[in-house]
Amino acid sequence: MNTATHPITIIGAGIVGLCVAYSLRKEGFAVQVIDPEDPGSQCSFGNAGAISTGSVAPLAMPGVLKNAAKMLLEADSPLYVPPHYWLRAAPWLQRFVASATPQRVEEIASALTDLFAGALDNHRALAREIGCPQRVVQTGQLHLYRNAAALEKDAGSWRLRERHGVRCERLDAAAIRALEPAVSSDYTVAMFMPEQGAVTHPFAYAQAIAEAARQRGVVFVRDRVQGLSREAGGWRVQGAQRGYQASQVVLAAGAWSAPLLRPLGLRVPLESQRGYHLHLSSPNLSIGRPIVFADRKVFAAPMEHGLRISGTVEFGGLKMPPTPRRAAALGDAAVKGLPGLELDAPSMWMGHRPCLPDSLPVLGPVRTHPGLWCAFGHGHLGVTGSVNTGRWIADAAAGRMASERFAPFAVERF
Ligand SMILES: Cc1cc2nc3c(=O)[nH]c(=O)nc-3n(C[C@H](O)[C@H](O)[C@H](O)COP(=O)(O)OP(=O)(O)OC[C@H]3O[C@@H](n4cnc5c(N)ncnc54)[C@H](O)[C@@H]3O)c2cc1C
Repeated sequence: MNTATHPITIIGAGIVGLCVAYSLRKEGFAVQVIDPEDPGSQCSFGNAGAISTGSVAPLAMPGVLKNAAKMLLEADSPLYVPPHYWLRAAPWLQRFVASATPQRVEEIASALTDLFAGALDNHRALAREIGCPQRVVQTGQLHLYRNAAALEKDAGSWRLRERHGVRCERLDAAAIRALEPAVSSDYTVAMFMPEQGAVTHPFAYAQAIAEAARQRGVVFVRDRVQGLSREAGGWRVQGAQRGYQASQVVLAAGAWSAPLLRPLGLRVPLESQRGYHLHLSSPNLSIGRPIVFADRKVFAAPMEHGLRISGTVEFGGLKMPPTPRRAAALGDAAVKGLPGLELDAPSMWMGHRPCLPDSLPVLGPVRTHPGLWCAFGHGHLGVTGSVNTGRWIADAAAGRMASERFAPFAVERF
């Protein structure tokens, strides 16, 4: 690798690009990060912060067609495709359903198990190194169901988790109340994963990683990358303001990554799954850990600066304005799940989850374009997967990790 002349250039300063930048710099490489926005200010700003290393079941499980079809057509359901977007979304949805075969689901779960292995400990180590150890905690994660029949519908994904080594405990109504007294008695059964963790302030965490990277010599440039091309000894990265020379390039532009690959002959079925949050900065009740109301697919997460209710999947692309009624539906679900909750002037946010139809990110070196790396498409689990993505790319760039480990995530799989 040529590190003497030009830096490794990372496109995108979300949680993924920042972890890659930090790890590569720690390895001794010269690193520059290009992004037109503040580090961590896009999808990495408003997520639920859960470090869900046990979420190794893909979103498309066997039987997905039957379960999702009904939801897709209801405007207030947790999963929605607006009519004008059906034609755009159809090929992606087709691939999504096609990935739900039992064999493919096992392969995906194995790949995610590998990517998430040790991620909570690695986030903790990172938080310690950058001076905010309090920001990564192990609280466990609680998934609530109304009754045993509802839990049974998800049994396949719980068994898959257990087969892949995730510790899961079934709780009855009394145990739920002991753990989370604020939860409605409508929820009578739950699955608790004690080994899961959380980031208590996702934006502050991302900014702390950026600041630590900057202090260690990573250069941050504000520009929007418009094109990539090979040139002697490396890559030329064309920004809106000027061109940059790079020894290597890591594409970590989240939901915006795919168009930058198209001129290189690489087509990636990346879609934004638009998610929302309502954030209460002074909530009138507290919970001890991220909890999931499984019937509404809504997350409630305690944060150091309040309580965050998040979730929903809305297709519609990168340009459509936010749909306030989807955020409002989160509030309704939260009040049903936490009956004492007062929704006092919450702030609303929408973010673009970068999603591939097989629930796997695109990671690793691009075989046909030496010196180009991918690190995007972490979907619903970008906080969780960011730290190991950074470590893997730094290990591979330093020659310590064989590139075969990236095989399940390779861009060539499409
Ligand atoms: C409601 C919600 C809840 C979530 N909860 C969780 C959770 O609990 N746990 C979890 O693990 N994950 C969660 N996620 C997912 C997680 O937030 C994302 O997977 C993660 O933030 C993606 O990080 P990223 O760095 O890939 O993308 P981003 O944070 O979006 O960063 C991409 C960066 O690329 C930049 N960029 C774009 N185009 C260009 C360009 N042309 N040139 C230069 N830069 C460019 C953007 O400005 C941006 O800064 C949640 C997501 C949502 C929406």
